[in-house]
Amino acid sequence: MRFFYFRILEASVKKDIRALSKEELQDFFVSHDAPSFKAGQVFQWLWQKGIHDFELMTNLSLEHRNLLKAHFQIKHINIDSQQRSADGTIKNAVKLHDHLVVESVLIPTSTRTTACVSSQVGCSLDCTFCATAALKRMRNLNADEIYDQVVAMDQQSKLYYQRPLSNIVFMGMGEPLMNYKNVLAAIDKITDSEALGMSPRRIILSTSGIPKLIRKMADDKVKFGLAVSLHSARQEVREQIMPFAKKFPLTELIEALEYWYAYTKKQITFEYVVWEGVNDLKEDIQALVGLCRRIPSKVNIIQYNPIDGSSMKQAHQTIIDAYIAALTKARISVTYRRSRGVDIDAACGQLANKIDSK
Ligand code: SAH
Repeated sequence: MRFFYFRILEASVKKDIRALSKEELQDFFVSHDAPSFKAGQVFQWLWQKGIHDFELMTNLSLEHRNLLKAHFQIKHINIDSQQRSADGTIKNAVKLHDHLVVESVLIPTSTRTTACVSSQVGCSLDCTFCATAALKRMRNLNADEIYDQVVAMDQQSKLYYQRPLSNIVFMGMGEPLMNYKNVLAAIDKITDSEALGMSPRRIILSTSGIPKLIRKMADDKVKFGLAVSLHSARQEVREQIMPFAKKFPLTELIEALEYWYAYTKKQITFEYVVWEGVNDLKEDIQALVGLCRRIPSKVNIIQYNPIDGSSMKQAHQTIIDAYIAALTKARISVTYRRSRGVDIDAACGQLANKIDSK
C-alpha cells in the first residue's frame, strides 16, 4: 500500500520537461551518462515538432526514452472546442494545465493568417467596454501555455488555409504586460530558430499602457511591435472608460512611449474605438491628432463590438470619418477595419469564455 502511494506521489511530482532550458536538459543527460547532444534532439521534438509523447521521439534509443519517462512529464494545452465564423475566423477554447480555459482566435485574410493569443485567465483591468474585464483574473499563463496556443493555431492555419501563421497579436484575454516574464519567454521561443522561428516583426503586443513596463521593454531591446489601447487622448475621458488609467495617467504613458521610440525607433500603433457621447467631440479628435504629432505613431480605429450588459454604442459613421479626415490631413496613417468573427463572439473585447459557461 505504502509503495502504491509512493508511486502516485512520484508520478504527480514529475517535473514538466518543457520547464527546462536546453542547458538544463544537457546537464540532465550528462549526469545520466548520456551525450549532451541528445538535449538538442529532445528540444526539437518538444518545441519545433510539438509532440506530447516521449514514445514519438524516434531518434532516441528506448533506454533514453525510458530515462526521460522516468523523470519527466510533458504538460500541454488541449483545444477543448472550436467555433468557426462565417468569415473563416476560428475561435478556440483552450484548456490549460489546471483545466482553466482561455480563448484564442485565428483570423484569416486573403494574404495573412493572424493568431490572437491570450496571456492571462481573465483580466485584472477594468475597461468598461470589454467583456474579458468582467471575468475575474485567475492567474497568469505559463510561457509554454502561451507558446502552445501559437503552435495549435499554426497547425490550424496549415490545415484549413494551407499556409503557416503569418502574424501574432497579443490581443486575446488579459493584459500581457501584467504577465511580462512569461509573455517575453513565450516570444523568445516563438522567434527561436530551434523552435517556431517566426520573425519578431510579425508579432505585436497590445497593452492598455503600463508606463514602467513599456520602458522596461525598450530597455530589454525587444524586437516586436507595440500597440497601445488608447481610446482617448484626454485624461478625463480615458479614466472614465479605463478606470485603471487613474493610476497610470496619460502624461506618464506619453513619456514612456517617447522613451520607447527613442530607444527602439519603432512606431507605435494606437488602437481606438469611437463611442457616442464618450469621445465624439472635436476636442477628442484634436487631442488624438496632437498626441500622434508628438509620438511617431499610426492609428487603428477598431469597430466597437457590443458586449452584454453595456449601453455603450459606436459613434455615427460621420464622426469616424471626421477622425479619419483629421488624421489624414495631419499625415498620420490611419486604418479602419471591419471586425472579424463577431458572429461567434471572437472579435476584440468579446472573449469571455461563453462556450465554457454554457
Ligand atoms: N489588454 C490588452 C489586450 C487585450 S484587448 C489591451 O488592452 O491592449 C485587445 C483590443 O481590443 C484592445 O485595444 C481593447 O481596447 C480592444 N477592445 C476591448 N473591448 C472591445 C470591444 N468591445 N470592442 C472593440 N474593441 C475592444
